[in-house]
Amino acid sequence: MKAIRVHEFGGPEVLKLEDVPSPQVREGQVLVRIRAIGVNPADTYIRAGRYAVRPTLPYTPGMDAGGTVDSVGSGVTRVKVGDRVYVAGSLTGVYAELALCSQDQVWRLPDNISFEEGAAVHVPYATAYRALFQKAFARPGEAVLVHGASGGVGVAAVQLARAAGLLVIGTAGTETGAKLVIEQGAHHCFNHHSADYLDQITAVTGGRGVNVTLEMLANVNLAKDLGLMAPGGRIVVIGSRGTIEIDPRMAMSRDATVIGMALLNAPDADRFAIHSALVAGLESGILRPVVGRRLQLSEAARAHEAVLEPGAHGKIVLTV
Ligand code: NAP
Repeated sequence: MKAIRVHEFGGPEVLKLEDVPSPQVREGQVLVRIRAIGVNPADTYIRAGRYAVRPTLPYTPGMDAGGTVDSVGSGVTRVKVGDRVYVAGSLTGVYAELALCSQDQVWRLPDNISFEEGAAVHVPYATAYRALFQKAFARPGEAVLVHGASGGVGVAAVQLARAAGLLVIGTAGTETGAKLVIEQGAHHCFNHHSADYLDQITAVTGGRGVNVTLEMLANVNLAKDLGLMAPGGRIVVIGSRGTIEIDPRMAMSRDATVIGMALLNAPDADRFAIHSALVAGLESGILRPVVGRRLQLSEAARAHEAVLEPGAHGKIVLTV
């Protein structure tokens, strides 16, 4: 089968399309024929050797995909050959024609969701769900700021928060990004590069402040976020690409909490709850992944450049 292989950590050019032997299922495992692959910023950090977890070289990248079940090992009860699934992590990497998964890494893809949309589910939606409901304990009627709402996690958070009855405020860096955020259900969207957007956010909360912030770029925004919070507010740090100086007094005066999260730390029971909720949301149409750009598997290097460029518009997906 064809697969992207990484033999050394480095820039996008280390992603090589190669012929490798197809994996074979063992007990409790599922082999998935991959139709589309979700590209996440974390895929680039791992490829560069700058992530908390460094895979053993050589490896095949990728955690998110949509496809069909090709074969199952003994003891697999959750899926059968031919089922449409989305993949939430794998044993062999998903930038490939086939990926081996444990049975708890595959989830039923409802018929109304395409393979490309399915490839956009795992990391973005699971992260947004965990941040909103398992970390910040967001409640209907509260105001949530999705600081960086035009990308994968942001669009997912907007859809989830709107469906849960929150006042949803998003930000984007371009007009097309802002349009997308409003289309996906945000009540308001502001440009995070404009001079007065923080005042605009406070204004739309009626001066009360934001109860929950999901932060995609904490090294730029954490100090600003603290100033926007309502009493008892919770900031979930989802993304950060450097350091920042904050005034801790801003947290004290508001009884505000800053919560860090990494999806890979979620225990199995929490993952099970997350994906059970996501499948239900996909099935009912409340959750609709947005694929903004499609590239071929052979263009993985270009996708790794694009996912770090400004001007996000939903997900970048590789087709197989
Ligand atoms: P993405 O699709 O590339 O989207 C990035 C988002 O950040 C876009 O909405 C972008 O907006 C926005 N952004 C850029 N500059 C910003 C600024 N100054 N202020 C606020 N937002 C800004 O990435 P993603 O998949 O949504 O992931 C977002 C971040 O979370 C990444 O750093 C990723 O590594 C991290 N992440 C962490 C976890 C975890 O477990 N903790 C899980 C998933 C992702 P414009 O492009 O419109 O400017």
